[in-house]
Amino acid sequence: MQALKVSRESKKEDTIIEVNGIKIGGKKIVVIAGPCAVTSKEEIIEIAKAVKKAGACMLRGGAFKPRTSPYSFQGMGEEGLKFLAAAKKETGLPIVTEAMDTRDMKLVEKYADIIQIGARNMQNFSLLKEAGKTKKPVLLKRGLTATIDEFLNAAEYIAAEGNDRIILCERGIRTFNTYTRNTLDLSIVPALKEKTHLPIIVDPSHATGIRNFVLPMSKAAIACGADGLIIEAHTNPEKSESDKEQTISIEELKTLIEETRKVAKSVGRGM
Ligand code: PEP
Ligand code: MN
Repeated sequence: MQALKVSRESKKEDTIIEVNGIKIGGKKIVVIAGPCAVTSKEEIIEIAKAVKKAGACMLRGGAFKPRTSPYSFQGMGEEGLKFLAAAKKETGLPIVTEAMDTRDMKLVEKYADIIQIGARNMQNFSLLKEAGKTKKPVLLKRGLTATIDEFLNAAEYIAAEGNDRIILCERGIRTFNTYTRNTLDLSIVPALKEKTHLPIIVDPSHATGIRNFVLPMSKAAIACGADGLIIEAHTNPEKSESDKEQTISIEELKTLIEETRKVAKSVGRGM
């Protein structure tokens, strides 16, 4: 079989993805932060300003939310995307936001600087193909039970359509363990570094589901070679519409960035 486009065999050098002047996969570690979901214009602007001040370089926030229960808040849809655009206008922070449905891909592409494909959709091949047809970089999250080969083949679906600007994200997998929301599989970071030239970031928020574990796992992720972090943070974590247990405060985000910067330095990277 032919080597995958996303494999190291096909391309030796690391892929560096540039988004509005920010490089992902280079020497510098990127920190993407923001709420789980966008819930109002005022709030997302306030959070964007705060995460920027704390040192984050991109804003995350879902307008389309993949919720376990159909009765839970499903996101604001296009209105949420408009609020993200307003937050970008105020702060200059590029936007990372999820597309869940092929029918919304064009709309999300219009507003997002990076299109996120969520864990539950990692093997939604139609969605991957649509993402592959866009002109925006794609942040592909690892599926809840995906092996490394399934993860890389999911990325290949995007690359095969002509979009090679893909960022992989480890966000924890399902194991027998129930004391954390998921189990953060950090060993996939060096494994992916061998197998692919694509940048790899870690989401310690969804991986642990526990606010107090986000800092130590962020440090560990950078120590083992991750190129960045995506963190759920809020100016008032208790007011988060979703995932409040894992959402950190702005003060905690600031500490996280300061502490993680020391780790980055110790492994020859900047932040
Ligand atoms: C998210 O990042 O908002 C999210 C839903 O993450 P995941 O797909 O990893 O569960
Ligand atoms: Mn979330």
